Amino acid sequence: MSPVDEKSGRSDSEESPGVAPEARILLVEDEPSLIFTLQDTLESEGFHVTVLTSGADVLRQVGELRPDLILLDVMLPGRSGLDVCRDLREGQIEVPVIMLTALDRESDKVTGLDTGADDYVTKPFGVKELLARIRVQLRRRASSSEGGADHLRLGSIEVNLRKGLVFRPGSSPIALSTREVQIIRYFMQNANKPVSRDDLLEQVWNYEQTMNTRTVDVHVSKLCNKIEGDSDEPRFLTTLHGVGYMLKLG
Ligand code: CA
Repeated sequence: MSPVDEKSGRSDSEESPGVAPEARILLVEDEPSLIFTLQDTLESEGFHVTVLTSGADVLRQVGELRPDLILLDVMLPGRSGLDVCRDLREGQIEVPVIMLTALDRESDKVTGLDTGADDYVTKPFGVKELLARIRVQLRRRASSSEGGADHLRLGSIEVNLRKGLVFRPGSSPIALSTREVQIIRYFMQNANKPVSRDDLLEQVWNYEQTMNTRTVDVHVSKLCNKIEGDSDEPRFLTTLHGVGYMLKLG
């Protein structure tokens, strides 16, 4: 690790509330030295990093890995980064993309952004600058899923988070507590990912002294009764034995 990387270490993370340090980053890059440096730096910042060295298989891998952000080189074997980005957006995949490229002409930046990239970093770039840009994108993503996603449809059941109401067919609206709304929002932000009881304690309850994982189970169980058609056989808010929970969304 270079001295620059060490300096950019923990303090940055601590100054950046709202960005999950365990965010998953897909790095698509074919230059070994850059892969080495970036993977090392990102992992030391707490990110989970997966590396692909060709543009050929990115779309399928994104479907499986569900990354929170993609760092995408432009000049790649297999398929260019610009084409990959276009493929993603045409496939309605809205994961933030930061393009990495040696090209620094204005026209290339415009082309990159036209394909649906969210940001653009020109090589050689400073690690600190890249980390800052990554955090901007992750924060933007977190806030848009917080602010924009006030509705959740679970089969025939609709949840309005702003009003704190659950609409079930053939019944009056059911009120959600503030805590239940917070729990649902956290699940929505982490949809299709395992969520542990400790995650919920930390993120929803802020580790309040009197709370324990049993409290989490009681709240989730009550919530399940409200938002699932059959809480004995939940389709969406499922229990993962020995792990916690997962909100499964299509
Ligand atoms: Ca390259």
